[in-house]
Amino acid sequence: MARRNFNLASIPLVIESSGRKLPGRANQALIGCGLLLLLPLILITCGRAPEGVPREPADPSRLTLYFNGTILTMTEGQPQVEGMAVRGEKIEATGSDEEILALKDGAAALIDLDGRVLMPGFVDAHTHLLNDHRSQGLSLDEAQYQALKNGITSLGTLYVDESFLREIQTFDESGFLRVRSGLYLVASDPCGSEKGAWWKEHPPSRVPGEMLRINGVKIFADGGSCGRVALSFELQPGQGTGDLWFTQDELQAMVAEVDAAGYQAAIHAIGDRAVVQALDVLETVLAGRPNTLHHRMEHVSVIPPEQIARFGELGIVPVLIGEYPSCTPYGPPIPGQYAQMEWPWRALREENPGLPLAWHTDVPFQSPNPFDHLLGFATRLDTAGRAVCPPAEALLDDTLPVEEALSMMTIQSAYALGRDEEVGSLAPGKYADFIVLAANPLSVEPAKLAENRVLLTVVGGRTEYCWPASQELCPGFANRTAVPLPDLRPPTAVRWLAAALLLFLPLAAMATRRRYASHMQPISGFSGILAGAIWLALLFMSFFPLWNEDTSMLLLTLPAFLMAVGTTGIAALWRRGWFGTLALWLALLGAIAFSESSVVSGWFRNDLGWGLFILGLLGHAIGLILFGSVNLRGRVFPRWNALPLIVGLLVLLPLASSSMLPESSDWPIRMLLGVLGGGWLVIGWLTIQAPRDSSHEQMNDAEQVVL
Ligand SMILES: [Zn+2]
Repeated sequence: MARRNFNLASIPLVIESSGRKLPGRANQALIGCGLLLLLPLILITCGRAPEGVPREPADPSRLTLYFNGTILTMTEGQPQVEGMAVRGEKIEATGSDEEILALKDGAAALIDLDGRVLMPGFVDAHTHLLNDHRSQGLSLDEAQYQALKNGITSLGTLYVDESFLREIQTFDESGFLRVRSGLYLVASDPCGSEKGAWWKEHPPSRVPGEMLRINGVKIFADGGSCGRVALSFELQPGQGTGDLWFTQDELQAMVAEVDAAGYQAAIHAIGDRAVVQALDVLETVLAGRPNTLHHRMEHVSVIPPEQIARFGELGIVPVLIGEYPSCTPYGPPIPGQYAQMEWPWRALREENPGLPLAWHTDVPFQSPNPFDHLLGFATRLDTAGRAVCPPAEALLDDTLPVEEALSMMTIQSAYALGRDEEVGSLAPGKYADFIVLAANPLSVEPAKLAENRVLLTVVGGRTEYCWPASQELCPGFANRTAVPLPDLRPPTAVRWLAAALLLFLPLAAMATRRRYASHMQPISGFSGILAGAIWLALLFMSFFPLWNEDTSMLLLTLPAFLMAVGTTGIAALWRRGWFGTLALWLALLGAIAFSESSVVSGWFRNDLGWGLFILGLLGHAIGLILFGSVNLRGRVFPRWNALPLIVGLLVLLPLASSSMLPESSDWPIRMLLGVLGGGWLVIGWLTIQAPRDSSHEQMNDAEQVVL
């Protein structure tokens, strides 16, 4: 019986206007429409705040003499001195107090270190502090400030896609970048899907002292960030041995391409199967050549004992975590007979003398505080959550001397980033990237290593951070406030007004149904068409580099708001039956939640916003499906009457597919934009066309009950 009016396939594309009049108060309707559009339009006129504060290079003639300190140079000839002279952005001399103070000229600034430790800034060879800044609720400026406060003066960003590359390059070109950054462009994602050779369009650079540099290419050999790490044994019976993403030949082809193009390869390999595969691949690719590009391996958590010396033989840099997760182990412990394969840091050091071993925080996965990692390297104690947790029995003795750990966390990590000639140690001619500490890590009780703090951070001769209680180290310097994420939301008053309007419209529709319908029909119709057009424009934009998270989130708000307005008009046209009204209310509430997820709760930057977005989308889809199924008889839309049902069903498709497609795929959102765009374009048009004479009210009540 429902098929009687189901005529989607045979719709004439002719606007049937005979016998219909424009609403009596068309002018007022258009004015109302304009007013309605005004609100969301305010959303996109909000300006963007500046994203950083330009960095001015150090005055090249300015001489600063640091004396009376314990200076850990991380050089072999002169590991410890008393003083250091800095001119402009570089170190001029290191030596005894006498030697340094003899350099004093009229304008020199003298800083008495009062016995405190001055050492090279920490070099975090692998972090996501910058590329992941949004999901941590930080602006790029706040993220880099966090590094600088922690004494990190150089870092490697190990997940750079095209959109982050554009963002950080713009940030650097504006002079906002204050921490030396090396970028690793992704050739494959954490789930092992290849992302093509897009990185070839962005050549690596090696300009000494540059703040931003493209270092190399990141390849994921096994799971860990997605799926399971690839082991040669089962962690738990029946669990399998994890995910190795590529065959030997596939990985070899990728690494050979990276090597031939002159980029450094950074291969993520956690489990022993991945580690061995990556070593084999690198051995084949290098074919006896020295590793001049400093190809490196990330995490290398499980290494079979007979493989340890291969790192030194091939010159491959292992990038190691220092904060061993004793408090919160990542998974079940490694079975006893394999336990010695996990985290064999001391064996790596002893079997590979002369090979740089790099350190990484892998923020946000581990602590951003280098002292937590120093404690881990030296004692295997973990301070996560303040409780100090001892390591597993098998790992107790696998520690490194503090001097060695500090060297790994500075000069050896600088090698991993290809900057060991520029930074990482304190020697004449090198860039003045250094920090001053509250306590001497070489003399502090090992269990208290993590209680240390950074008092001063200097990058390229410029003070970037100074602990407020240590002003004597930075006379005249005031810490700046990092520029937060731009708040793209409209002013609070506008948000409340929009929310009130969205609440008022359905209430008005309920109370004055007939009159409301005649006023709202053109408004909601136009709103629907406009929403559809914007969705389609966004779909178009998503294929071009115009697309970035902030603009897309901002723009999503506008059509979602219009969609909500569009839904109220249909609700008003639906004159009978609680079921259809309920369905429309669901669709409306869904659209509101969808819109509010970005407006109220901050652009998906938190779980609440994301939850609202999904709930809103689901509600809207279910509402359209319910309304569409009762409208199969053409009660509101006599033509294309199954369209709402189809749109509702199609909206569910991208929601379902997003769990099947790779994490980084843009297709679910494109599908969504396409479905909502095409769907609402037609729904809006149908709303304007919907007859206001109530011929359908002549349906008998028995039919109503069936629905
Ligand atoms: Zn990582």
